[in-house]
Amino acid sequence: MNRKTTVVCKFGGGTLARREDFARASRIIKAKPERVIAVVSAVQGVTDRLVRALEESRKSEGHAKVFAEEFCAVHRQVADIPEIGMLSQKLESALFNSYASHSPRLTDYVLSFGERASAALLGHFLGKDCVVLDSERAGIVSNGVYGNASCDVERTRENFSAALDAAKAAKNLVVTGFYGIDQNGNVNVFGRGGSDYSAGVVTAVSGASRLELYKDVEGFLAADPKMVKSPQLLGELSFDEASELGYFGAKIIHPRTFDPISGADVCVQIRPVSKPEKVGTVICEHGQQMHVAAIASRKGVSLVEIYGGGMVNSFGVAAEVFTRMARNHISVDAIATSQTNISFTIDQASSLRASQALEALSLERPDVVWVFKVSDHQAMVSVVGGALTAEAISRAMLCLYRGKIGIKMTSYGASKISFSAVIDVKDEQKAVAELYSEFFENGKAAKKAAVATAKIVPKAGARKSK
Ligand code: ASP
Ligand code: MG
Repeated sequence: MNRKTTVVCKFGGGTLARREDFARASRIIKAKPERVIAVVSAVQGVTDRLVRALEESRKSEGHAKVFAEEFCAVHRQVADIPEIGMLSQKLESALFNSYASHSPRLTDYVLSFGERASAALLGHFLGKDCVVLDSERAGIVSNGVYGNASCDVERTRENFSAALDAAKAAKNLVVTGFYGIDQNGNVNVFGRGGSDYSAGVVTAVSGASRLELYKDVEGFLAADPKMVKSPQLLGELSFDEASELGYFGAKIIHPRTFDPISGADVCVQIRPVSKPEKVGTVICEHGQQMHVAAIASRKGVSLVEIYGGGMVNSFGVAAEVFTRMARNHISVDAIATSQTNISFTIDQASSLRASQALEALSLERPDVVWVFKVSDHQAMVSVVGGALTAEAISRAMLCLYRGKIGIKMTSYGASKISFSAVIDVKDEQKAVAELYSEFFENGKAAKKAAVATAKIVPKAGARKSK
């Protein structure tokens, strides 16, 4: 396929809720002169509902029918098409089978229903010159990891080009986001928010030169608007900057979206769905690198600190600790070490497992771990920028210090893309606000001060003149 004439458009769940939203998405697609491959998320809130449905159905057999009916009603509000009834029936029996079962295979299968339904609905709005491919038919091959799979891009490329050939006559295609099929034919989801990643995969394997991500926000902002009033919109970012920010609270983009398209000369655009002609943020592989692009933060972090006398000049200690983490499926984020200490951050959801693993390790290898501490309710605040300088880092440290925000650990890796500090979650908002004003509002703050002084002066003068 000619890459210049194909564009991949991804519609997030936040942009697909009502009938009008599907009609709008289909207008956007039809208005494009290029062939469009649309990748869709589930209708807003549907994946969350499926998660809850699974929880309930595991406990009681009676829930499957209720949830399947609810699923059916939510989608029929958008359009009453036969596919919805068929999917609801399949969902009901899958939920029924999940009673008293904790099979991850069944979980991922159930979670894929939201995307199956929204793809069918968008296909219906696009009408006859459109072909809908679920991930099975599109040949999206996943690696067998339930809950957070990755895609085998090379095998997907072969399958996908065959699927495209078969759909040659159609101007537009719709592909389900969020999941792939492993070698054994089982569904694997790509983690929450994984449709962005699917869109990256589809862009890579179709050879499209542009990926447009339609969102219910304007684009990337320089800070979370819940913490900073009207933060700046970021016009341009590099892949690295955007994935770094995707990892943090912003959640605008799945951090692995760019993996499949790295080196493929693709331009990624975030567009607000309400103004689809507007490009909010352009993300290019080697986009303009900023000294400080944004301030980001993330809650739900736990800090692990390990002290052991055997660490000085010995070897294998860190390997032992991290092997235990890996064995317990605990993903380690930031790491800092000294001669007598290893500190790292993990997701708070794995904090209990980490404590248990370290408890066991300290009993088996008292020479490795003397004492350890796992502290929950931490946050990680970061200054992100592709060309972060030492000056920016010292300013960030000083700013937190002046704001009396205790820093428990810092990390600044070789990629030089972000500087992060672990702080108490109660200080998160303050830290973000202070850092934002340090790097983005310095001028404004000075101006505000000047205005304030100017206001005081005439008042004083007025009193004098009395
Ligand atoms: N529907 C999935 C979720 O809510 C995937 C996505 O929206 O990207 O996580
Ligand atoms: Mg989403």
